[in-house]
Amino acid sequence: MKYFAMHPEQIVQSLQTDMEKGLDEKEAKRRLKQFGYNELQEREKPSHVLLFFSQFKDFMVIVLLIATLISGLLGEWIDGIAIIAIVFINGILGFFQEYKAEKSLDALKSYTAPVVSVLRNSNWMKIPAKEIVPGDIMKFSAGDRIGADVRLIEANSLEIEESALTGESLPSSKDVNPVYDSNAGLGDLSNMAFMGSLVTRGSGKGIVVGTGMKTAVGKIADLLQTTPMVMTPLQRRLEQLGKILITAALLLTFVVVFAGIIQGRDMYTMFLSGVSLAVAAIPEGLPAIVTIALSLGVQRMIKKNAIVKKLPAVETLGCATVICSDKTGTMTQNKMTVTKLYTNEKMFTVTGEGYNPIGSFFFNNRKIDPINDEHIKKMLQIGMLCNHAQIVRKKGKFILDGDPTEGALIVAAMKAGLSKERLLKDYRVIQEFPFDSRRKMMTMIIENDRKERWAITKGAPDVLMKLSTTVLLNGRRERMTSRTEKKLKLEVEKMAEEALRTIAIAYKRINGYGPFDQSAVEKDLIFLGFYGMIDPPRKEVKEAIEKCKRAGIKTVMITGDHMTTARAIGTQLGIYGKQSQTIDGGQLEKMTVEELEEVVERVSIFARVSPEHKLKIVQALQNKGHIVAMTGDGVNDAPAIKAADIGISMGITGTEVAKEASALVLLDDNFKTIKDAIEEGRNIYENIRKFIRYLLASNVGEILVMLFAILLALPLPLVPVQILWVNLVTDGLPAIALGLDKPEENVMLRKPRHPKEGVFARGLGWKIISRGFLIGLVTLLAFIFVYKQYPNNLPYAQTVAFATLVLAQLIHVFDCRSEQSIFSRNPFENLYLVGAVLSSIILMLVVIYIPTFQPIFHTVPILLKDWLLILGMACIPTFLLAGSFYIRKT
Ligand code: ATP
Repeated sequence: MKYFAMHPEQIVQSLQTDMEKGLDEKEAKRRLKQFGYNELQEREKPSHVLLFFSQFKDFMVIVLLIATLISGLLGEWIDGIAIIAIVFINGILGFFQEYKAEKSLDALKSYTAPVVSVLRNSNWMKIPAKEIVPGDIMKFSAGDRIGADVRLIEANSLEIEESALTGESLPSSKDVNPVYDSNAGLGDLSNMAFMGSLVTRGSGKGIVVGTGMKTAVGKIADLLQTTPMVMTPLQRRLEQLGKILITAALLLTFVVVFAGIIQGRDMYTMFLSGVSLAVAAIPEGLPAIVTIALSLGVQRMIKKNAIVKKLPAVETLGCATVICSDKTGTMTQNKMTVTKLYTNEKMFTVTGEGYNPIGSFFFNNRKIDPINDEHIKKMLQIGMLCNHAQIVRKKGKFILDGDPTEGALIVAAMKAGLSKERLLKDYRVIQEFPFDSRRKMMTMIIENDRKERWAITKGAPDVLMKLSTTVLLNGRRERMTSRTEKKLKLEVEKMAEEALRTIAIAYKRINGYGPFDQSAVEKDLIFLGFYGMIDPPRKEVKEAIEKCKRAGIKTVMITGDHMTTARAIGTQLGIYGKQSQTIDGGQLEKMTVEELEEVVERVSIFARVSPEHKLKIVQALQNKGHIVAMTGDGVNDAPAIKAADIGISMGITGTEVAKEASALVLLDDNFKTIKDAIEEGRNIYENIRKFIRYLLASNVGEILVMLFAILLALPLPLVPVQILWVNLVTDGLPAIALGLDKPEENVMLRKPRHPKEGVFARGLGWKIISRGFLIGLVTLLAFIFVYKQYPNNLPYAQTVAFATLVLAQLIHVFDCRSEQSIFSRNPFENLYLVGAVLSSIILMLVVIYIPTFQPIFHTVPILLKDWLLILGMACIPTFLLAGSFYIRKT
């Protein structure tokens, strides 16, 4: 169907919809059933069976399986079956770990699914893009991604970037006129907006004519597939490390086997022990556990309203040294209420709270009727008309639909008894130059029944003053002299000092027929006055800023608002003090990045900035070696968000473009959530360090006990199945539980981590080697001690060695929870860990004491008296080093 050649009315008829009311919900549901979800078909994923079998593709595991097969053929079938069973269980665990890791990553993607505005049952509502159906009436504005193929019925300075489809990188301007050229390419269809393309300017409305695979992108599918989750730097480093560890493990195993064979030991036993040791020592589970720790951490962040879109950000969060944050809505509540109004050289106050349109106007503490004052009335009318927000009444409550700044103006006008519907009966909007945070203003052109036209403008007072040549005083236009301007500025300044956000109103009559040119309209204006509105700081932000400070992270406010307002809020929040410097947009504009670098570290407020300036700030800070977190919500914020080390966007007020560019989305737009995410980011990293430490120290212990025994010409302290059991049970559950550990109290008291910091930094390498060495040593000592007592009962000594190794590791796991020592944390804080350790102990006792398992695991029941020895030995590695920590500390 060539919708682009049809008139909107024809489309309405052919798609059975209604431009005023939209579809009704029932019909929308029916269509959803008929046409299916508005989604592109996903690429096929590898099947679960493949994922399962991939667990066994590891070289050493294959060697082990072959070795086991041989042992089975040689008659050692109990060993063979036991080993195969353990390898199989290990495979199942690995499968579930990877499966869970993948699932939680998928879940993340759905959290950030885009939403769109559609008209249903006469109400504009936000729905997930996948629920759009043909016939829906949809609206969008700068920063939105178009959710389906749409035939436009309204376009206000609408520009759309559709390079993915047309290859044209510049945005194309759109209109609503039918295109009759039947050979027109996608790039020529100026009345269509296509799924996946991006609104870069203005706003528009249209009828959905195609969804899902029936859209232009659907036809070339695959194009818009969600980007794959990239590996985090740590994951990449661990992958490299994994290779080194495998080589080291193989080498040591080779030494063990070789030395054993030279000593004349049974070749076959040595071979099987060697391969089992290699399987146990190679930390094949590490990548999956890292992914699980990352994704579990990410789930915890979701609970705190932070959504990580790019996994590497989890790590970078922990390195952040500066947070550059927007003021409005992030540090403040974005619940605007007009409390002051200045016009005709008089300051009025307005009472009332929130969006409840009940309140009065006062002049010099005397109540007045604002409608009787021509100046105030005009200001309120323009404020209400040059506006997209609506105040709707739902269940007795007044709710804002739209921008809070605009909502506050509507509420102020409603308090005076004005109604937008009534105003719109008298005036028709015929053109609009939308709000743009660069221009800091917006203009609408309205006409009345007599075809008289006006430009009505609202925007930042300093901007409008510059564009106004006259000012309305006592109903007459007076020239805007430098004296009047000075006086006005002083009044604006007074409002700003009270932390009020200011917004001015100007207008002018215009002649002629449209469309009008923006630069011709937005000049020679008549300045009318300005509003002051409060936007209180969010209560929790001050404390969050303080916590960041203690964690070595500086907070910088970046705002489009007036400098004085920004300073007043900055002072309340503890960002701005005597030592702080401020820079405004004008100064920034003139500075080069190099010049900014000189001062940037001392600046705590950037005011009246445009989104473009943010990029400069990010670059200057990064050149100074900072790791920068930068927030943003609009289209123009995207470059800075992308360039920042951690780009952050707003879940509520953010545009789709900003969200896509960002690595972290704040569901509640709240600054505190950034702090929480940083804290969680630091914690996740620490948890990963914890289980790397645990796993590797355990592996070192396992290898060394075998190596020492061989070197001392002793019998082997562990049999292959025991080694594999340790690898499965002791190394498995507790490691995952460490990934769930709570943060240490001091995570937010430390300086940020250096992003290039190696995996083994801050003494981790030493801890792994020293603990691993001691675990190996005590296991060997316990073995020797018991073997000397019962030289004819090797299995008994081996069982004691097995129990010592298991217990030493299970005690050591609690030590890994802290960078300091085992005593600095309450072991019962992490109940998962306690559970994992208890189940490992029970499984160990089962293997030792239940007769069915004894022949399989070559175990013998241990006498009670020997448990004392085992326990004593198992405590040594952890307690010895904890002791040395305290001696060093005192
Ligand atoms: P932040 O960057 O902290 O979110 P901000 O929201 O104040 O700051 P902008 O939205 O760019 O930054 O607003 C800058 C200025 O533009 C405001 O101080 C106000 O005077 C003016 N302004 C804001 N919203 C509108 C609007 N909808 N229409 C006209 N002018 C506006």
